[in-house]
This record gives sequence, structure tokens and C-alpha cells, in this order.
Amino acid sequence: MTDLISMTIAEARNGLANKSFTSLELTDAHLAAIEAARALNAFVLETPDKARAMARAIDAKIAKGEGGPLAGIPLGIKDLFATKDVRTTACSKILGNFVPPYESTVTSQLWRDGAVMLGKLNNDEFAMGSSNETSCFGPVVNPWRREGSNTSLVPGGSSGGSASAVAALLCMGATATDTGGSIRQPAAFTATVGVKPTYGRCSRWGIVAFASSLDQAGPIARTVRDAAILMRSMAGHDPKDTTSVDRAVPDYEAAIGKSVKGMKIGIPKEYRLDGMPAEVEKLWTEGAAWLKAAGAELVDISLPHTKYALPAYYIVAPAEASSNLARYDGVRYGLRVPGRSIGEMYENTRAEGFGDEVRRRVMIGTYVLSAGYYDAYYLRAQKVRTLIKKDFEDCFAKGVNAILTPATPSAAFGVGEKGGADPVEMYLNDIFTVTVNMAGLPGIAVPAGKDAQGLPLGLQLIGRPFDEETLFSLGEVVEQAAGRFTPERWW
Ligand code: GLN
Repeated sequence: MTDLISMTIAEARNGLANKSFTSLELTDAHLAAIEAARALNAFVLETPDKARAMARAIDAKIAKGEGGPLAGIPLGIKDLFATKDVRTTACSKILGNFVPPYESTVTSQLWRDGAVMLGKLNNDEFAMGSSNETSCFGPVVNPWRREGSNTSLVPGGSSGGSASAVAALLCMGATATDTGGSIRQPAAFTATVGVKPTYGRCSRWGIVAFASSLDQAGPIARTVRDAAILMRSMAGHDPKDTTSVDRAVPDYEAAIGKSVKGMKIGIPKEYRLDGMPAEVEKLWTEGAAWLKAAGAELVDISLPHTKYALPAYYIVAPAEASSNLARYDGVRYGLRVPGRSIGEMYENTRAEGFGDEVRRRVMIGTYVLSAGYYDAYYLRAQKVRTLIKKDFEDCFAKGVNAILTPATPSAAFGVGEKGGADPVEMYLNDIFTVTVNMAGLPGIAVPAGKDAQGLPLGLQLIGRPFDEETLFSLGEVVEQAAGRFTPERWW
């Protein structure tokens, strides 16, 4: 059944429509692959009974010609998305065995369109991290290894389970979320395609909140086309999320193969960092050449406030997180650790329920929002955010259609290798991705090459607001030129 798991969504869609196989067969093949890959720790909950029931139901619909755009496609769901009657934990002890009585809007749209749920995917606790090492279920392992080495590498984070599962052929695609890079960075570390849509494109309703003004849901898939197929189902206006935008959802797949001739691609000089590995720099130049060969025009641009993006993000995101996480108090759901008073119960619950990184964020956030420090930190970071957004707007106003950058400053690193002594070492992973969240723009990470140790590297394309289509067109040009990358199976 290996051939059933190595197909793309587009290929499986054809096979299902031609009745070459059923959704149940496709689903069973993936369930077997998941079982054989537990060493990767990508899934925190497998839902085989539910998967088979969904597959049987959709097979019956396909037989009647009522399939839907994702009919029969088995997907993995990041454990940040509330799934009705299926445990949802955000990979935090504080949510305990929380079983939501409701379904997130994004996942409900996937099921509406016929997709099948295989289970819930591991992530960094409350999506705080860049390596999937902060999960209460333990780290996810990247299916990629350095050539000639069996050191376990991280898949990136926070959507590490999503990226690892998609790369290891455990699911055909996955949902993910991106607050500062959590879709694009793990995609780059695993040679998968990750899309962070424009803020407001996908509903945040029913997704565990981290930093509400930055959070966006998006897909991780194996090809640009598959990501476009998933995006169409995930996007859309939702009256239950007041920040979701009422705009028609385009047929993103139609953008694939569209000419990019005459498009202006900005190359921002501030993304050329001191000490950036030569391979990353080389890949960036190569990517630009591919776009040029396809008819695009390259222009040097400047995004002068880039250097303030990371520090400003690490004020805004913890501030919002400290407020969002105030709801976990042991009263309504999840973990409760008793105490002699209600105050002590709150303290005991939060001390035991939150991991180190989450506690660090809550403390930073509480500090920067406190009276006397609010203006100096939070307000100032918000002003910086406006300037970052303006940098991009100025470039777009000059006719730039999209911006090309590396996705990450390095390839995947080893489990336990980074951030132990200094958390900033981990935060630096987001250097190329946070600006996009701060400005609310769409971004795509596409696999583009390998480093000297045989590990995948990705390129990022940043687009104008709500112009994901251009990113799909350009992303496919990169994909065509770079080829596709699949890890050698060792698990
Ligand atoms: N790595 C970043 C952080 O830890 C971004 C995480 C994310 O996008 N969810 O905040």
C-alpha cells in the first residue's frame, strides 16, 4: 500500500474519482503508516475508528457523485484546533483531557468538503516554540537526518507534528497555525510546503489562542498545488471571528501554472544577515535566478525596520499570550490542582499545568503590560509594528508583487541542541518569518534545496494582503526548478 501514501492530494483526488481505490483503502494505508512511525511522535492522538467511519461515509457519497473538493482525503489536525468529541490539548498539561463540545471553523470546513481525520498532531505547548520540544507529549522527530548520521533532528515548530507527518507520508496534508513562523519554519525543516495566509483569511474560531492579533491557520502539504487545494477549503469568512474578512475565496489552484512574467520580485537587503550560512545565501540567489528565468523582474528593496521585528514580536506575542492564557485557572476545564484557598488553587494549577516556556511567556507578557511599563514596552512595540507594516506597504506601492527571502537562517538542528541556556538562540529561528505576522501578510515556504549535510532548506515568498494566488504561482515556479525532496525511510 506504500503507493497509496506517497501520492499527492491532487493524484489521490483523481484516483478516488476514477474509483482506482476507495477512501477507506487510502485511510487504512495511512493508519498503517502512522502505526509504523510512532518513533517520530508526530501524532498525539490517533483516531482510527473515526477515520474509518468518515472514510466509509465519504465513499458512499463519492459513489453517488456527491464528493466535495476534498472527498476522501486523509488529513492530520494540529492539536491546537478544537475537534468535537475528540481530545484537544494544545499539547499542554493544563488542558488535561479536555474534549471540546464544538468543532473549529477551519476543521469543520475540511469535513464539509469531504476530508477524513486521521488524528491529532503534536505541537509546541500552546504553539510557543520553534522546535516542537515544548510539547507535554515530548519532542517530535524530523524524518530527515544528516547524511551518515542517526542523530534525531527537530522538525521545527510549533507545527512540528504537522510537518513531520506530512513529510513522512503519514497524512496527505495537515492543518497548522502560524503566529511568528510556525507553519513556514517547520515546512522548511522538512521539505514540505507551508502557507501562512493573510491575517483574517481563515477563521480563528475554535483554535486555541496564543497571540490573537498574529495567529493564522494554514496548510502544510507536500506540493504547492496540494497547499492551494487545502487553502480553498480552510479559508473563508466566519461571523464567529470578528477579525475574519468577508471576501470571496478564490480558486487558489487556478493560480498554479499562471505566468509570472513581468512580476516584480523584491529582494530585501536587510535579510542578508552577518554569519548567514553560505548555503542559505546561495539558495536565495538560486531562487531569484529561477524566478528571473520564468520572466519575473528582480528588484533590490529595503525593509529598514526588519531588525526590530524579532524584539517587538517577543513583546507583542507574550503580552497577548499572558492575557489569553489567563482563562486556564482550573475552574472550568482541564487540570485542577487543589489548594487551601481559591487563589492557591489557581497558583497550584498554573504552576503544574504550564511548562517552562509557557510560564516564561506569561511572565514576560504580564511584565510588559503592567502599569508603568506598558508605554515603554507594549506601546512602543505596537508602534514598531506599524513601521514594519509600512516598510512592506511602501514596497508594494512601488509595484513589488512579492518578496523573496530565505525561510530560515539554518537547516534543522538536533533535539536538545538549541535554546537550553539562552532562549533567544531559539527565538532567532523566526528572524525571517515574524515580520510577515507583524504586518499581517501572506507567506509561503517552499522546499528549494539541501545543505551540505543533505538537509532540506526552504525559500519564503511574501505577498500583498489577500494575494495568496501570486504566492502559489511563484511557489510553483520554485518547486518546478528545485524538484521535490523526500526523506529516506529509517523509522
Ligand atoms: N517560534 C515562535 C514563538 O515561539 C512562533 C511560534 C508560532 O508561530 N506559533 O513564538
